[in-house]
Amino acid sequence: MAQPIKSTRQVDATGRLAPRRVLVADRVFTGAEPGHLAGGRRRGAVAIEAGVIAWAGAADDLPAAHAAWPVHDHGAATILPGLVETHAHLGSYARAVTPDVPDPDVHTLAWEALSSVKIARQLASLGVTAVQSLGAASYADVALREAVQAGLVAGPRIVASGPPVTLTAGHDWVDGSEIDSIPDILHAVREHHKAGADVIKVMATGGFMSHSTAPWNAQFTLAELRALSDDAHRLGKRVAAHAHGTEGIRRAAEAGFDFIAHGSFVGPDGLTRFEPEVADLIAEKGIFVDHCAVPTFPAVPGEPAAARAYDLYRRGVKVVVGHDIGAVHPASAYTFGLRQLEAIGLPRGEVLIAATSRGAAAIGLAGTAGVLAPGYAADLIVAAGDPLADLRALDNLVEVVIGGETFDRERVPPFDPDRLAAEAEARRAAEGGAATPDDVRQARVQRALRASAHPLIRIAE
Ligand SMILES: [Zn+2]
Repeated sequence: MAQPIKSTRQVDATGRLAPRRVLVADRVFTGAEPGHLAGGRRRGAVAIEAGVIAWAGAADDLPAAHAAWPVHDHGAATILPGLVETHAHLGSYARAVTPDVPDPDVHTLAWEALSSVKIARQLASLGVTAVQSLGAASYADVALREAVQAGLVAGPRIVASGPPVTLTAGHDWVDGSEIDSIPDILHAVREHHKAGADVIKVMATGGFMSHSTAPWNAQFTLAELRALSDDAHRLGKRVAAHAHGTEGIRRAAEAGFDFIAHGSFVGPDGLTRFEPEVADLIAEKGIFVDHCAVPTFPAVPGEPAAARAYDLYRRGVKVVVGHDIGAVHPASAYTFGLRQLEAIGLPRGEVLIAATSRGAAAIGLAGTAGVLAPGYAADLIVAAGDPLADLRALDNLVEVVIGGETFDRERVPPFDPDRLAAEAEARRAAEGGAATPDDVRQARVQRALRASAHPLIRIAE
C-alpha cells in the first residue's frame, strides 16, 4: 500500500528547495543492511530529483548526468534515511488540554487536529520522516495525512489508523470504535476503509491507561480477530494490534496480524514473563513488533519491560521502533528510546535498521521509504558526527529532508526521563499511594477484578 511519492515544489531563490541537488557527506548510511555505506570507505553522495532519490554512491563516482546539479557538502556529517516512528497517536491528546471556555466539548475536534499537527511537526523536527498513527479520535490522523500531502502543513509521511477498534468499555474506548460482535467488527473495518484509514488498529488486550481494563486480559476471541484481519486484508489494509497480555499477543499472531504494538508479555500477576514459543510464532509469521523502550513504561518500578525487546530480537522477531508518542511519551523521547534499545542488548546497527528500513516496511512503506537507493522517496536526515559509532549523533541534526524538501525544524524541548519518572510516581501516589512494586501489582490485580466483572472482557476463551 505504498503512498504516492510527493514531488517537490519549484526551486526557490536560495536553491534550498531545488528539485535537483546532490548531498555529500563523509558517510551515507543506506539503511539497506546494518552498517551499509553507499560510498564504502569513501565519502558518500545522494542525488535527489523531484522528491525521489536518483542515485547514491561514493562521491567520486557521481554519474555525469548529476554532475551539474547543485551540491551541498555536509563535511564530516552522516546522511541516513529518515527515522520512522511506528507507533504514535496523532490526534488523541486533546483531553489533556482544557480550553478556558464555558463549553470546551465543542472544540474537541479542532484540538485533536491541532495537537496532531504539533506532535507530527515535533517528530519531523527530530528527524522522523515517516509516522504510523495507531489510534486517533475522529480520524484526525487521516485528515493530517491528507493535509501534508496537499501541502497545507509541512510534516512527515503519515500512515493513519483513525480510531482504534475496541470493546464497549474496552481499552481506550474514549478514542475508539466500540464493537461487541463479528458483524460490528466488519462494519467498523468498512467504516474505517470509507474514512481513508491505511491500517486497522485493534485493542487486542486491555491497557495500562484505561480504568475499565487490565493489560493482561485478552479483549477479543481468536474468531473475532480473524474476522477483522481477513476483512481488513481484503480491503488492502494492514492490521495492527495493541497487545500487552500474552494470550492477546498469541491470538493476534494466530489471526494473521501484520504488526503488534507493545508485545510486552504481561501475565495475570501484572509482571512480564517472556514466552519463547509465542515469540517463535511471531517470528515465523514475519510480524513486526514495536516495543516502547522508555524507562517510564510499564509502570512497575524496577521491572525492565524493555528487556522483552531483546528477548524478541533474539528469537528472530522483526523489532521496530515505536514509542506510543502522543499518548504516553512526548516526541522528544524518540532518540532516547533508540539508546535504550542499544542499552538492553540490541546491536547498534540493528537499532538503526529498526529505526529506518525495517520501520518503513513495518508501516507499509517497503520499497517507498526507509532506504537511500534509487527510486525511494528522498526522505533523509543529516547528522553531525557518526550515528553508526554513537547514537547520540542523532540528537545533533543539521538537515531533515522529506520528499526532497528541507523541513523547517522547530525547537523541541529535550526529553527528561527523570522528570517523567517523577511525574509517574506522583500519579501512582495520587491513585492510592501505590509506591512500591508490590503496591502497584496489587492495584493492578484489583483493577483486573473490576475488569473481569465486565461481561464483555474475557480472560480466556
Ligand atoms: Zn498506543
